[in-house]
Amino acid sequence: SEVTNITNRLDSFLGSVNIIISGGGKGRSWKWKDMLRFPHISQCMELAKTLERDYYSLCVKQPIGRQLFRLFCQSKPELRHCNSLLDKMGEYEVKSDEEKRSFGMQIINRFLSRQVPLSDLYPNVLHLALTLPSPICEGLCVLGIHLRLLCFYSDLHEYLSGAPFLQYQQSMYFDRFLQWKMVERQPVTKHIFRQYRLLGKGGFGEVWAFQARASGKMYACKKLEKTHVKKGKGEAMALNEKQILETLNSRFVVSLAYAYETKQSLCLVLTIMNGGDLRFHIYNMGTSGLEQDRVQFYAAEVCCGLHHLHQMNIVYRDLKPENILLDDNGHIRISDLGLAVTLSEGNLVRGRVGTLGYMAPEVIGNDYYGLSPDWWGLGCLVYEMTAGRSPFKRKGERLIGKEMERRIQEEEEEYGKIFSNETKDFCRLLLTKDPRDRLGCQGSGVYGIQSHPFFRTINFRRLEAGVIEPPFKPDPRAVYCQDVQDIDEFSTVKGVILERADNDFYIKFNTGSVAIPWQTEMIEMGCFKELNVFGPQGSRPPDLDW
Ligand code: ADP
Ligand code: MG
Ligand code: MG
Repeated sequence: SEVTNITNRLDSFLGSVNIIISGGGKGRSWKWKDMLRFPHISQCMELAKTLERDYYSLCVKQPIGRQLFRLFCQSKPELRHCNSLLDKMGEYEVKSDEEKRSFGMQIINRFLSRQVPLSDLYPNVLHLALTLPSPICEGLCVLGIHLRLLCFYSDLHEYLSGAPFLQYQQSMYFDRFLQWKMVERQPVTKHIFRQYRLLGKGGFGEVWAFQARASGKMYACKKLEKTHVKKGKGEAMALNEKQILETLNSRFVVSLAYAYETKQSLCLVLTIMNGGDLRFHIYNMGTSGLEQDRVQFYAAEVCCGLHHLHQMNIVYRDLKPENILLDDNGHIRISDLGLAVTLSEGNLVRGRVGTLGYMAPEVIGNDYYGLSPDWWGLGCLVYEMTAGRSPFKRKGERLIGKEMERRIQEEEEEYGKIFSNETKDFCRLLLTKDPRDRLGCQGSGVYGIQSHPFFRTINFRRLEAGVIEPPFKPDPRAVYCQDVQDIDEFSTVKGVILERADNDFYIKFNTGSVAIPWQTEMIEMGCFKELNVFGPQGSRPPDLDW
């Protein structure tokens, strides 16, 4: 046991060393260029025929597509200023409220002066502004500038999606895009990753630290053992989790970068979250509970993550501290989307799912519900982060399920001295038994939550842009989880035979790279920059296959 102990520690040490190295673009396989070799352009013709020519997807959403489209614009004197304006708009987005007005005016003056003046487009706003007392007038001016810029931003994209987009598709930059897409769509097998330490254990298998050999980027690989999935009839659940994850794109929810299969398992390759889960931070760091600024910060990030899911009509249904993971910098992401479900247009669902102690009254009562259980969950989370215990259970108390359910449906939760007035009010409003009266479930939706005084120190726009410094940064040398040897080994199930019919499901699961995270990996790790070279003076190289 002494030996395994040392080996495990060494393993996790090497894992962390590697994480440090990979940040500098090292840790790549010496064969990385071969792994990412562009096919000859003639091999991209099938793709060129079938690819949907959607400007927004090809030139805005996909990171490599966006970069190549920008390089194309840069090569045309008449389009260059579009790039600078897009840059400025990006800067404007993350400016603090105080800087926004003057920066916004600068953009307007620089790019729009020869166009319609502000006052012509928004005469009502400006007229109103001039007649109001100055703080409101100031607010409306900022709003006016903001609207003007938004409008111009969408006009700009509308313009670019016309003739420039057509020209782009005839250029060498688009050929290069097709080549990158072909590399992206290469089949994914276990050989494209290195495996490091064990991170945790789930219902169907283990989660390991992985590294993409081509780029050096670290990931977490959640393995679902095929025999376990089959025995536990988890096929639909696994596929649901995978399909929901691949449609998401939020800095507050783990991203799925690859889905593939091996002989034994189905693998989900996810954003790695090395800072431990919130449960560990609430209970195992000396004192139970967290300081108010951390509670507000985590609650705000969770709120943005839930909002992203809700905008896509997804209810998460499993909010609890264990499922909120920290990254190296101290930002959180929602993880474990096994219970999430997509609501079909205007419909509600039913289903008593979730974790005992965190289920909303309407879930326990087996009623039809929409997005409301998640806002109840946020109330439970804020309560638990603050008090160091969940709202319906005393510390160390053991409860049977029925009693817990009764308390959730009938009892008022109690608030100790540790709760500030705003936190108490916020939790009360979220822990309203009737979902129709609950904060977040009314007309104003998430904005009702974000504008509550509990969040008065949070600037949600800057939070969404990722420019807010977290109040706590995990120590890179610490391991914020139970010791690896305490995690039981994952046993294989005997007597389960995998058949032909199971293959239909494996095929649906095994879709390989997911476009946006894969392209982000290429850019972030420097592979894009190093490989995306063109011939002299920006000419089309004689042979794009090099
Ligand atoms: P299950 O759905 O089977 O419960 P989870 O998704 O919760 O599986 O993963 C099991 C455990 O693996 C988690 O409790 C956590 O310790 C670890 N884990 C999961 N995802 C990640 C990740 N992205 N980064 C780091 N560790 C993770
Ligand atoms: Mg879990
Ligand atoms: Mg799960």
